[in-house]
Amino acid sequence: MIKVEAINLVKRYGQTAAVDKATITADKGEFVTILGPSGCGKSTTLRMIAGLITPDEGKILFDGKDVTDIPPEKRNIGFVFQKVALFPHMNVYKNIAFGLQMRKYPKNEIRRRVNEVLQLVRMGGFEERMPSQLSGGQAQRVEIARVLATDPAVLLFDEPLSNIDAKLRDELKYEIRRIQRETGKTMIYVTHDQGEAFAISDKIYVMNNGKIEQVGTPLELYTDPKTPFVASFIGSSNFIEARVVSYQPESGTTLLEVGSVMLKVRGQPNFKEGSKVIVSLRPEDIYIIDESRQAEFLNVFKGKVESVTFVGTFVRANIDVDGLLLKVDVHGDDRFRVLNLQGKEAQIGFNNCTVLNIQ
Ligand code: ADP
Repeated sequence: MIKVEAINLVKRYGQTAAVDKATITADKGEFVTILGPSGCGKSTTLRMIAGLITPDEGKILFDGKDVTDIPPEKRNIGFVFQKVALFPHMNVYKNIAFGLQMRKYPKNEIRRRVNEVLQLVRMGGFEERMPSQLSGGQAQRVEIARVLATDPAVLLFDEPLSNIDAKLRDELKYEIRRIQRETGKTMIYVTHDQGEAFAISDKIYVMNNGKIEQVGTPLELYTDPKTPFVASFIGSSNFIEARVVSYQPESGTTLLEVGSVMLKVRGQPNFKEGSKVIVSLRPEDIYIIDESRQAEFLNVFKGKVESVTFVGTFVRANIDVDGLLLKVDVHGDDRFRVLNLQGKEAQIGFNNCTVLNIQ
């Protein structure tokens, strides 16, 4: 593992600077995320760190050594793209072994490494499968295994979960964090998804219009946003302080207590009972439902609709669930139905809570 420093990086396309004096540091073994809206320059920054794009200004240091002019294949980096790039005609084993064969590893060592990384990403037993026989999530796990096999000093991820459906995405983000902890590798991760960034990062760089707006831990960004952009970009979620009650192995969920309300989140068997966590719950992940849809949701509550605001493309309702005030955004045709609910009781359902990484 190494320390990565990107100092005052600039990349211009024509008149506009896609990246404008961005400085990013990832300490040895740190999980650092670049977070920002689409088009703000995240990917360009990551590609400059990888050596796939040459910066117009600035420099990149790996453990203090200037690598700005060193080509990507000599930087000892691993890059996980949004789109999985497995060879379609090779099975999982061969896909992972390929890079090691190119590097002339002995056969026994290749077998040992392939097994080790497949175990690490929890894909042991899938050696013979062809890429077409894998789900999107499984393919991304194999991709991560393939990148890890060559033992890169730093791993770079460019929106690796964007093509994966919501439920799996939720699971995989924690998996990536677990893999980072187990390998101790320095990782730099790019996403536009605030919940994802908050769940997995030691440190987040918030980027806007090519510039770094603020850097901090998830909690620092949440409690002390330094610019209006950061406040609005981070602030659109429901942030809920909760206490861990217990893990329920039969359902694979963890119970959290918020005042008199009990929330359920998927997974998290390692949480200490009684510890405090912050849960991020996106307004658009909460649905106003009738009885027929109860079974679809892990969490179902009744609440009082305190206010309803028509914002145009969506309707924002503020709903009070026994003292827990939740922002709920309703999109599509349903938003007209919600307009009549002001002052009335409504039933809500949600699945996707993110427990923030605040230790
Ligand atoms: P992000 O990853 O945050 O979505 P990018 O780094 O991909 O953003 O892009 C930043 C800006 O640079 C965008 O406005 C994009 O249109 C522009 N850009 C990226 N690559 C090129 C390119 N090869 N030529 C011209 N403009 C580009």
